[in-house]
Amino acid sequence: MSKGTKVPGYMQGKGSRNPRGIIGDREIRYKCSLQNTILDVLRGRPGWQEVPGQQSTGQQQANTGKSGSGSTTQGTTSGYKGSDGDWDFYWCDREWLAQNYDTMFLYEHQKILHFRNHYELTRKNLMVKNLKRLKKQTERELGKAEGQSFEFFPTTYELPSEYHIFVEEFKKNPGIIWIMKPAARAQGRGIFLFRRLKDITDWKKGEYQPLSDPNREVPETYVVQRYIENPYLIGGRKFDVRVYVLVVSYNPLKVWLYRSGFARFSNTRFSLDSIEDTYVHLTNVAIQKNAPDYDPDKGCKWSTQQLRKYLSAKHGVEAVKKAFKGIDNIIIKSLQSVQKIIINDKHCFEMYGYDVLFDSDLKPWLIEINASPSLTASGKEDYDLKFGLLNDLLNVLDLENRLTGKEKRVGGWDLLWEDGPILADDGNMECAPNGTTASIPNSFLGCHNERKRQLRELYTAAQSIKKS
Ligand code: ADP
Repeated sequence: MSKGTKVPGYMQGKGSRNPRGIIGDREIRYKCSLQNTILDVLRGRPGWQEVPGQQSTGQQQANTGKSGSGSTTQGTTSGYKGSDGDWDFYWCDREWLAQNYDTMFLYEHQKILHFRNHYELTRKNLMVKNLKRLKKQTERELGKAEGQSFEFFPTTYELPSEYHIFVEEFKKNPGIIWIMKPAARAQGRGIFLFRRLKDITDWKKGEYQPLSDPNREVPETYVVQRYIENPYLIGGRKFDVRVYVLVVSYNPLKVWLYRSGFARFSNTRFSLDSIEDTYVHLTNVAIQKNAPDYDPDKGCKWSTQQLRKYLSAKHGVEAVKKAFKGIDNIIIKSLQSVQKIIINDKHCFEMYGYDVLFDSDLKPWLIEINASPSLTASGKEDYDLKFGLLNDLLNVLDLENRLTGKEKRVGGWDLLWEDGPILADDGNMECAPNGTTASIPNSFLGCHNERKRQLRELYTAAQSIKKS
């Protein structure tokens, strides 16, 4: 890999870069694989210019050196003569990155979505494997008590490789419910719940055996996981919470947490009587929108602000603070579990969608982590959330070089971790109980998100710091 290697021609005389590798005084050229909110955001961003050409075919050339100097694709609306690889910012899909990353040249300033081996965290089996490893290491080095801070993912086994260990565990806990999930699928596909071992023997013979699918040479990998039987219910319904997390570097680990997100409710009242009913047990929008009584106008979402307010009114601010602190712990521990494995590259960033489920004691559980959380909006409110989220992500990355680089908050993103925990500045005590004076973490999930006002103030302050 030759990241940062100079390709003659490209970038020369086409604008300047400052020492941080940020573009100074010219348009920013972007590419985008998706046709949803992110494209709207990019198109609406002043000074940003779309690089024309095929998007997301997996066959385009990156800055491979073959395309770097001798531009083949001609002309843009801005008069810039560029090649397919002449972008500054690329919101690519995971497949594109997998196909092109190993042969790409990237210039100092170029930014691209996804880390090369993001699947270490986003495949259900690998996520658990990595978490179990860090938990063990922590117990070894710091003691059993410290290991308890990892008790946020339900007992999980990979199938078929850990089938026998699973059976032993199953026998120790008769009567409990388990959930079976394909390791690499999404949107609730292929998931089912079961209580008896007998329920999976037929499945075991058929579903994931090689012969059931002539194209599959090895059995599909599944995880079997303890089902959380006591989810926190609102109006009798189960929900999970989507939390957005931005990682701009794994070494040092630098993590931002977005204030806004949403809770996704199931459409049907929760009950353990009908464990085969996916509308009761799976909160994925993709599943719920097919429920017979689904109302697309009402949807089944609450904003995280609404959720926090509801929970605070019911249980008090302190209890909710503790519960949300548990989410911070989930985020940091999960990222640390892959910190040494992820191929860190200063050009890469990742916006994760964490799925978290509260149980009836308000304890948060990690269900899964997505590297391509849905950016397609399900309504006006959802669109506004995603539009602000993505615009603020670009504000954090700051290709325009408008910030000082020392910010702890940019729009709705709060800096949660930079090689260690970040504490909130005085005066930024939202969601803290009245009278709090002690230092609190710079974490404001579900707190007020007046992002536009904050950005105005931020840019004014950054400008005067830079001038002086
Ligand atoms: P997918 O990638 O297919 O969305 P998830 O792991 O996110 O798979 O599971 C889908 C849904 O199933 C979750 O949103 C949640 O509502 C429910 N679910 C998954 N695992 C559990 C579990 N261990 N306990 C309770 N509910 C779960």
